[in-house]
Amino acid sequence: MAQVNIIGSGFSSLAAAGLLAKEGHDVSIFEKNPTFGGRARQFQDKGFTFDMGPSWYWMPDVFERFFRQFNQQPSDYYQLVKLDPSFRIFFGKGDILDIPDSYSQLEEVFESLEVGSAKKLRSFLENAKQKYEVGMQHLVYKQGNSLWEFATWEVLRSLLKLDLFTSFDTYTRSHFRHEKLIALMEFPILFLGAMPSRTPALYSLMNYAGLRLGTWYPLGGMYEIVNGMTRLLQSLGVEFHAETEVQHISASGGRSTLLHTSKGAFKHDVLIAGADYHHVEQSLLPEKHRKYSPGYWNKRSLSPSCLLAFVGVKKRIKNLLHHNLFFHEDFQQHAQEIYVQPKWPTKPLFYVCCPSKTDDSIAPEGMENLFFLLPIAPNLEDSPEAREEYFHYMLSKIEQFTGEAFAADIIYRKLYCVEDFKMDYHALKGNAYGLSNTLQQTAILKPKMRSDKIGNLFYTGHLTVPGPGVPPALISGQIAAKQASQYLKNHESNL
Ligand SMILES: Cc1cc2nc3c(=O)[nH]c(=O)nc-3n(C[C@H](O)[C@H](O)[C@H](O)COP(=O)(O)OP(=O)(O)OC[C@H]3O[C@@H](n4cnc5c(N)ncnc54)[C@H](O)[C@@H]3O)c2cc1C
Repeated sequence: MAQVNIIGSGFSSLAAAGLLAKEGHDVSIFEKNPTFGGRARQFQDKGFTFDMGPSWYWMPDVFERFFRQFNQQPSDYYQLVKLDPSFRIFFGKGDILDIPDSYSQLEEVFESLEVGSAKKLRSFLENAKQKYEVGMQHLVYKQGNSLWEFATWEVLRSLLKLDLFTSFDTYTRSHFRHEKLIALMEFPILFLGAMPSRTPALYSLMNYAGLRLGTWYPLGGMYEIVNGMTRLLQSLGVEFHAETEVQHISASGGRSTLLHTSKGAFKHDVLIAGADYHHVEQSLLPEKHRKYSPGYWNKRSLSPSCLLAFVGVKKRIKNLLHHNLFFHEDFQQHAQEIYVQPKWPTKPLFYVCCPSKTDDSIAPEGMENLFFLLPIAPNLEDSPEAREEYFHYMLSKIEQFTGEAFAADIIYRKLYCVEDFKMDYHALKGNAYGLSNTLQQTAILKPKMRSDKIGNLFYTGHLTVPGPGVPPALISGQIAAKQASQYLKNHESNL
């Protein structure tokens, strides 16, 4: 069997590793950081357990589909809890909107804000469901090399309904008028890292994912998914190399042959690059083997970077739920300051996760575990002063809107921002979750998974298809594994 080396240990790498190991190949993962999971790492301090990246578990079907290929299911590895309410939006002090898990209650919420909107929600979500189903069955599991891959009867039949050429904001506003409902519907676009005006309405499939498939949480934290996948991979014989930074890729005759790492050189027949695409291509590959230029990368529209705060509080905080969105300002201005005129935001919106509302294991008894996330433009100047200023801005808004003062009760605090993303993940401009899903960067218009200069190199992860987020990263790894597997079958005689 073949030797497969994988750079990075994010979800895309783990997914690819699992499938190739299942086929019997010898698979080794090389990760520069001391722990695995990429942006979904976790750390513990002062009795608190903090997830460092993803906190929303959406699209449970994608996780089920992954584990099913090993005759397993997520519940064999971690225990999911469905959140109800799914999340809370703060529009101001005492002005909140709770999004119930129950669909009939959700319709009541809509109707209470805008007469007639429940009916519109039904048709919006029916259409979003079709997009989700066509997307899952016919679009997202494709490698995105050519438009022909998407030319199935089902896709052609549904083409008009996919709303590829209508912008998300036009589409949403054609259904709803109330600004709170528009904010609710546009928020998943934040996940995709783009302005609703530049995102195709195809992505209303995310509303279906969020409002119909439920918001879940794995007890112990999102890292339990990484732990589960790692256990599965170890049972299949995958070798894990932590604190092993890949420094250079040797290639000749159209094939890459050797990974040079901080702990020596490792041979391979196939290489899967799950570290950020830009880093692998521009820093690890010799120039003549690169497909894209620095100018190409410079012009990509990236997802935001973030200011993150991991906060431990020695008392419980009332009025927060597990997921809390602070949408007290107009998102348009904040979005402009992320995507159009990059600067530290004038009136920022932000998100607070308080997983200790659901999970006793991640904070000492009677205490609260908080994670603040404020999206900012990639590559902003990241100074200790800016971090402090915006941390205190978020803190004061949370105190104001929840009516609970807790600044004096903070016993643990760590801030994380642009320079940390660059240092920890080699993230281009300190992006948090890859490329924006604008129309110009969808499917065949994304950086290609397959290197056209090196036949046995396959890129995966959130800078290529299908895009940002944990479920897409899982899908990306599966597509890369399929391509690598095909390559190995075609070249069996040369191995
Ligand atoms: C703050 C934050 C919040 C998020 N929230 C959500 C959410 O709620 N829900 C959701 O679905 N998604 C969320 N995401 C997005 C999601 O986490 C990512 O899109 C996904 O995890 C990316 O996986 P990946 O496999 O592409 O790469 P990564 O997770 O980035 O993994 C790449 C790995 O490669 C390693 N690496 C880099 N260079 C080298 C090298 N030279 N040698 C060895 N290793 C190297 C890195 O250390 C890293 O471990 C969030 C992301 C962040 C940062």
